[in-house]
Parts: sequence; C-alpha cells; structure tokens
Amino acid sequence: MKIAVEGCAHGELDKIYECIETLQERECIKIDLLICCGDFQSVRNNNDLRAMAVPEKYQHICTFYKYYSGEKLAPVLTVFIGGNHEASNYLQELPYGGWVAPNIYYIGRAGVIKFGNLRIGGLSGIYKGHDYLHGLWECSPYTHSSLRSVYHIRSLDVYRLSQVKEKIHVMLSHDWPRGIANYGDKENLLRRKPFLREDIESNRLGSPPAETLLQNLKPHYWFAAHLHCQFAALVKHENDEETKFLALDKCLPKRRHLQILDLPSEYDGDKQLKYDTEWLAVLKNTNHLLSVKNIDCHMPGPGGNERYDFTPTTQEKDSIENLLSNIRIGSEKFVRTAPVYKTGTPKCLPSEPLLNPQTTYLCEKLGIDDPIQVIMARSGRTMRQLCLEENNEPQVEKTPIKCTKLVLPAPITPSENESQDLSQEYTNFTPENSFQSDATNTTSECITPPSVTKKVFKRRNLAIYTPEQNEHCDVSNTTDSAIDASSPRSSKFHRSNELD
Ligand SMILES: [Zn+2]
Ligand SMILES: [Zn+2]
Repeated sequence: MKIAVEGCAHGELDKIYECIETLQERECIKIDLLICCGDFQSVRNNNDLRAMAVPEKYQHICTFYKYYSGEKLAPVLTVFIGGNHEASNYLQELPYGGWVAPNIYYIGRAGVIKFGNLRIGGLSGIYKGHDYLHGLWECSPYTHSSLRSVYHIRSLDVYRLSQVKEKIHVMLSHDWPRGIANYGDKENLLRRKPFLREDIESNRLGSPPAETLLQNLKPHYWFAAHLHCQFAALVKHENDEETKFLALDKCLPKRRHLQILDLPSEYDGDKQLKYDTEWLAVLKNTNHLLSVKNIDCHMPGPGGNERYDFTPTTQEKDSIENLLSNIRIGSEKFVRTAPVYKTGTPKCLPSEPLLNPQTTYLCEKLGIDDPIQVIMARSGRTMRQLCLEENNEPQVEKTPIKCTKLVLPAPITPSENESQDLSQEYTNFTPENSFQSDATNTTSECITPPSVTKKVFKRRNLAIYTPEQNEHCDVSNTTDSAIDASSPRSSKFHRSNELD
C-alpha cells in the first residue's frame, strides 16, 4: 500500500492532486490514499469563508469547492483532520466524521478509521489550555471569540482516544506533540526556525495532550503539520516500540509538503474505508460525558465512583457491527448541505448550523448525540437542512474559467535541492518525494443555484441536558489574539508564515 501524506493543505487541492498525479506517472506507482494533516479549508461557498478564522484579505475560495460541487472528483481517496484554518461551520456538521465531498473524508473532531487493515487515528484542532476542559459549546453564528475557540482541542476528544487499546498504525494531529523536537535534529530545526528556540527550551512548543497520546497509543507513525516546516523524529518507547514522527510543510512551491509512504502489504486488506468498531464503541460508551456548556468539565478518573475505563469489551465491539448494517463507509453517503460556490455572492457569516444526514445516521445507529443538535435544542432553535434535492444532480456549470495558468508541478527530491534530508531512521519513508509547484492561485468559478428546505429534527437523549439560561450563548471571555496557537509566542509564526 502506498499512501501520500500532506502537511497543511490550505485549500490547495488542485495543486496537491496534480503533485500526486505527476508523481504517479513519473514513478509508475499508484497512490492508494492521501492523508492531510489539517488546515484543509473545506470551503464550499463564500459564506463558509466567514466561518474560517483568517483575516479577510486571506479569505480566498481556493479549490475545494470544485470537489464539493461535483465539478471535479478527487482522483485519490483523501482523508483529513481539521486544523486551525477551517470552514468550522462545515466541520461542525460532522463531529464524528463524514464525507465533505465525494472521495474526501473528514475523520471528525477525533476519530479512528480503517483503510484496508491500516488503522488511522486523528485529533483535529490545536491545543489551547484555556479551552481544553470546556464543553463543545460553540455554534454558528460565531462570535469573534468562538470563531477561534471552536477549533481548540477538548479533553473529551483526547479522553476518548485514550480509551483505544487496539494498535493504531498511523496517528494524525495538526499541531505537534509537545516535546517531539527533542527526538529529532533539534539544532537543524532551530537553524531553520530560530524563533522556536524559547518555546522548545521551555517545553512549551506543541500540544501536551498529543504528547500524552503519543506515549500511550505508541502508533507506528505520527504525522503533523501546523508549523509549516518538515521535521522528522524517532520516539523509542519503554517497551521497545517506536513511533516515527514526521511533520510536513504547507502546499507551496519548493516546500516539503508531501511524503510518500510504502507500507507492507499486510496493511492492504480490501483497501476500503471502514468504521472502526473499537472507536465507535468508545463513542457510544462515553456519550454521557458530552457537555455543551462553556465551563470546565472534568473527565472521570480513578478515585471516584464513576466508571472511568471505557475501553470496550468484546461484546460492546460486536454490538457495533450489529448496529451498523455495513461497516464500510461508502462515498454515496455524501450529502450537500450548503449551496455550492457562486461567483460574486456576498460573504455572509453563516447564521445557523446545518444538519448533516451523515451525522444523523451515525447518531441514530449508535444512540449517541450530535453536539450541535443538543446546543440548538437547549436554546429552542431548530436546525435546517439545505439543498437536499440537488444532491444527486448538482447542476454544475462547467466554470466560466478565469484561470491563471497552472504550471504542472516539477517534482524534486529534497536531497537534490536542500542539504537536509530525513534522518537515517527514516528509511521507511520511501520513496521520499517533495514537490515544487509554480502555480499561482487559480481562480475559477462555477454556479449552482441552491434551494432551501426547512426541516426540524427530533432531539435525542435531550432529557439529560437541562436547559440553562443563555449559557450556550457567547461568553466574551475573548482571548483577543488574532490567531490562535498553543502558546502566546507561537502566534508569531502564524502571522508571519502561515498566512503568507
Ligand atoms: Zn495550522
Ligand atoms: Zn497551516
């Protein structure tokens, strides 16, 4: 099995797929799966741009919308986690994962999926201590504050991942696990990113929960992005297992943003995307821990009277297969819930969350709650479902293309172009490839008029959530930093690097 791993996508799907197709031709190989480590920017239309925490001048539609509308089809099965630049309103429709476009699958806030026999875990968002213990309270329309806190990692998601006991082969996070710089060529990293020194030396670079998960889950591979530079590390665990860590850059010319992995055939299996029964059983076992309150909620642990070990039993895992008629995650489940991109439409902040039938399906099958539905129900608001009629016939007009020339990317191997290569422990990352693209931003537009239907959905298990006055509403405890990151200092590289 060959998989491609991309660092930050930043909406540049056309370029990433071109890189992959060029590589496939040049190397005569077939990539089975593309994994993206966040900042995916699954922006469907102009309104989604307003639900993304970037300054207005960086709110570009980019190219995801073509794959959403049906104008283009992702040439390789693509899975991704969320980062800190996302159409958060769209990702919030799919807290437990789902198709955001045909052949493009979001792993969810946290999740484990299988591709063939390869088990892939992911944790979306970035760590920020202030919000870590909070419930999942954010909801459209976002305030200045909630537009940012919505992508901050929550303890519930980390707690759920920590219940997983079967081996995870590949783990994904957007920000780096804290301390990971100590397991690679730190001096080289500091030469390239000198402004990281203080954070690294004070052990404040990266995500503490991701560090804990890395130590507990001991995956074979851990991929990350966010700092926009390539960095490899090798973590040797106490039980002699190893985790190969690789952070990748963002999709830009001459950056090491893409990595090909050649995995042993034992992972091949049926090469189908499937639900993971242990993970779904964890979701079911921990559903009662879901809080949508903007206050600290502590997860159960030893010493209390509550159950705190939610690792599913064999029976609990077996019951999942009975609940789901099919363990395969078929792309036919994809549903367009929002209008496709139309040139010239104004950018309006999405006013209300949309109900995604993929989430409804999973919640009903498993008997779990959709956080957004709980928030809405508590405040007496109803949820809408849009555009369902158009789903089978998206009526895509083949773009009045206003396209700047897209130059085919010229693949380069980093070893030829840069002095630094992956550390020697990285022989497993073969063949190693990075790509250079000369393409500038392509802008093309397509048109599909939406229609609107209104639908009220029944509330699940709502009795356990007692309504409280206005608590769901915004708490203007604004950490006023323009860009979020795990530490105050890390916002610097965001401003200077990420948004350039
Ligand atoms: Zn990021
Ligand atoms: Zn990024």
